[in-house]
Amino acid sequence: MKTELTAEFKSSATGQRADSILRSCVHCGFCNATCPTYQLLGDELDGPRGRIYQIKEVLEGRPATPVLQTHLDRCLTCRACETTCPSGVEYHKLLDIGRELVEATVPRSRPQRLLRRLILFTFGETYRARLLFATARLVRPLLPAKLRRRIPLAGRPAHQQRINASRRMLLLDGCVQPAAAPQINDAARALFNRLGIELQTVAQAGCCGTLHHHLGATDAGLDKARANIDAWWPAVEQGSEAIVITASGCAPMIKEYGELLAADPVYAARAARISALARDVSEVLEQEDLSAFKAKTPQRVAFHSPCSLQHAQQLNGVVESLLTRLGYSLVPVRDPHLCCGSAGTYSIFQPTLSNELRARKLDALQDKHPEAIATANIGCLLHLQAEAAVPVRHWLELLASSA
Ligand code: SF4
Ligand code: SF4
Repeated sequence: MKTELTAEFKSSATGQRADSILRSCVHCGFCNATCPTYQLLGDELDGPRGRIYQIKEVLEGRPATPVLQTHLDRCLTCRACETTCPSGVEYHKLLDIGRELVEATVPRSRPQRLLRRLILFTFGETYRARLLFATARLVRPLLPAKLRRRIPLAGRPAHQQRINASRRMLLLDGCVQPAAAPQINDAARALFNRLGIELQTVAQAGCCGTLHHHLGATDAGLDKARANIDAWWPAVEQGSEAIVITASGCAPMIKEYGELLAADPVYAARAARISALARDVSEVLEQEDLSAFKAKTPQRVAFHSPCSLQHAQQLNGVVESLLTRLGYSLVPVRDPHLCCGSAGTYSIFQPTLSNELRARKLDALQDKHPEAIATANIGCLLHLQAEAAVPVRHWLELLASSA
């Protein structure tokens, strides 16, 4: 795509990155076919090609408008368009640039600003998220059934065997997941224990920064990245093999710390090392010998592969193959590439689109009458669980309950 970015913008590192992404787009429109918002709204401006064009216009000097802000807000950042694109356009990086620019120039209403601040304040810190979920659990019995289903009960912690591990890896505790479903990381610890690997958590490491990054609070997101790098660094220097991430939504950001902090003279080298060590838990487990594990009660399971797993990390089929090897029977799921509508804070800011996507996803997941739905990201799990007719669990919980 031909570009004429403003001279001032083009001379910056961000401008050069945007220019190269825009030039790689040949405007073919293949990406529209797999874009959930284009499918729902049928508007070119709510598809990837249209969004790329609108961002290009702003970078070329056209003023950003509230209309453009709306079209960018409606994007789920699911990255299905990137999987489809034959030219390898890095859409999400252009979207980040566009969103930051629009955020800086188009003012939001006061209630919107307050809600955004409140979400970042509450969910961006583990202890605040824990407090919120603990309070919600206390009042849960008093709430109407529809609201009750949105508040997860605390799962039973998995049995932790004491081991003399010869191998050590770091485990990201994160922010929302330990508050909403602490049993997931307990399951990971128990599972890795059985493999002779100790998973270490560092109290000072927390939110990966994705939440801030996607809401246009780029600097705050990078501060979260720096804090995690500082927290993990001593263990990395002591030879930790990997940084294991059990919420697939957090992994893409940590895998990009190196790129995001490349211009930071203090953090660039360490950020690159952290990114090189970051692994989705499925990537680690697929390399391990799991022959001793077998499903105790082999269920028929529908697997929902989060966009952060299949599009952002391109780990398509890895979890599915692990579950099948253990004896679970996976039912076919229609349109597996489509987002469930959770997408971080999307379900809060775009409830109509989000609910429609969830209804379609649950139809597809439950069509063959599975006994359970498995997924790999806490956001998808909570979102689907609120309306699903069968239990929704993290796939690690299934693995950890294997004999
Ligand atoms: S598929 Fe790729 S090259 Fe084609 S319009 Fe979409 S982003 Fe551009
Ligand atoms: S990230 Fe998802 S919602 Fe956004 S343009 Fe791409 S396919 Fe559409």
